[in-house]
Amino acid sequence: MNIEELRTSLLRKDKNGFTRITAEQRAEMETYCRNYMDFMDAAKTEREATTWAVKAAEARGFVELKPGMDAKPGDKFYLNNRGKSIMLAVVGKQPLSAGANICAAHVDSPRMDLKPNPLYEDSEIAYFKTHYYGGIKKYQWLAIPLALHGVVCKKDGSSVTITIGEDDNDPVLYISDLLPHLAGDQMSKTAGHIVAGEQLNVMLASEPLEGEGSDLTKLHVMKILNEKYGIIEADFQSAELNIVPAGRCREVGLDRSLIGAYGHDDRVCAYAEMEALFNIDVPEKTAVCVLADKEEIGSVGISGMQSEVFEYFMGIMCDAQGVNMYHCFQNSFCLSADVSNAHDPNFPEVGDRRNNSQLNYGVAICKYTGSRGKGGASDASAEAMAHVRTTLDNAGVIWQIATLGKVDQGGGGTVAAYMANRNIVTVDAGVPVIAMHAPIEVVSKLDCYSTYLACKAIYLA
Ligand code: MN
Ligand code: MN
Repeated sequence: MNIEELRTSLLRKDKNGFTRITAEQRAEMETYCRNYMDFMDAAKTEREATTWAVKAAEARGFVELKPGMDAKPGDKFYLNNRGKSIMLAVVGKQPLSAGANICAAHVDSPRMDLKPNPLYEDSEIAYFKTHYYGGIKKYQWLAIPLALHGVVCKKDGSSVTITIGEDDNDPVLYISDLLPHLAGDQMSKTAGHIVAGEQLNVMLASEPLEGEGSDLTKLHVMKILNEKYGIIEADFQSAELNIVPAGRCREVGLDRSLIGAYGHDDRVCAYAEMEALFNIDVPEKTAVCVLADKEEIGSVGISGMQSEVFEYFMGIMCDAQGVNMYHCFQNSFCLSADVSNAHDPNFPEVGDRRNNSQLNYGVAICKYTGSRGKGGASDASAEAMAHVRTTLDNAGVIWQIATLGKVDQGGGGTVAAYMANRNIVTVDAGVPVIAMHAPIEVVSKLDCYSTYLACKAIYLA
């Protein structure tokens, strides 16, 4: 063998995905991404994503799973977990004792939540007080258009859904920053202290109602909300209202190869696994799609991936087939579909170039996340990585390796550990993202589409 033959046969050679996809795939990629962008405009919170998923699932013949139901090959089920997370399944030809092929993503994203008593007035300007949710760089959320999304549950048992700031005719909300002319002290602070959590106060109104008192602007806000939504101030105490960046998902770049949006992490993977589930025939093994909440704050709570609602869902299907659920888990596989950090040539110093994911190189497979000495990672086994590698290669999926930055640079986690704790073999994989957790994050269309194909291949494995 000459050197070139030796090189070809022995060395890895990664190639930009655009050199590898067919014209037909490119057309399908564009359609897929257009639909993804519509989803993103409709689903900026876990509640909105769940609502969207229920509707999409029902339109495709999925029915709500209830105890006592049969679970036969081809049956399609979903379980709406209190409007905040959802699990879907297509029952496979093999019994659940053979295991399930699971894709698990999360549909919550970093943002600011209103405090239980949010409304106040200062200097005749009305504000909402917020508490940020998830890992944000607080300074990024100043001086940009913001929207209010959420639900208010009233004492009479009714609830009202609120969205302000998304319609072209809506006003937007706003958190102020300091003018550079007077920012001498501010600019000398480290970035984490440029703005304090208690300064993330959202401007609501500046026109006082006519009358006497020091609460006339605040009262003005309540009057507007009451006229539109029938709520009173005390109703905020039983509400979930989120402040998110206002505006629609946009194509980015002159070649339109990228997509900019709030909350790609992790709705870009959630959408991929859901669409994949909607586009498979009856699989060999039962295919399960999980859209979890609360990943950004540790996968905790009743709607997070640590919740036993997953056992409840799987248990009903296992019971229907007379299968021990632990037996099912023992033979199951989970793709923890979550985003990775794409190599950013503006900030190359935080990653290991040889092990970092890169835009347009396809879905990024991540053996481990964690921080320091892999702390907190589930660290997939060689066997699990081989399963993913083989499955994706056999299906012709464009994929690459990812690690979360340089050793000792920082770190993070996903739902992977919580699936692995259940005795389910789990590997992380997802879309590489530029500026993760920023108000607008950027992903490549090719990687979005590759992740969709990867989820499909896993379901059909
Ligand atoms: Mn994530
Ligand atoms: Mn995240």
